[in-house]
Amino acid sequence: MSMNIPRRLTSTSSPPWWDTMADHYNEHQELVITVQCPHGHSAWLRPGEVANDGEVSPLVRCPLESCSFHGYLKLEGWPP
Ligand SMILES: [Zn+2]
Repeated sequence: MSMNIPRRLTSTSSPPWWDTMADHYNEHQELVITVQCPHGHSAWLRPGEVANDGEVSPLVRCPLESCSFHGYLKLEGWPP
């Protein structure tokens, strides 16, 4: 069971959401995908972690140690 995450529509969209950072590439020259957990903490995904239907694997854990959010995510509207 995965949690559907909508794409961010505006800068004030409430989390959770995902978006691409069009001007931001990682060291492998891959587009960086940013995700906010339901509590508004930022995480980053690699395109290789997202299947054609938007399913993310492996399990996503919020990088903030004090936050317990974790789950299987599906990015709505993928690919961008
Ligand atoms: Zn979090």
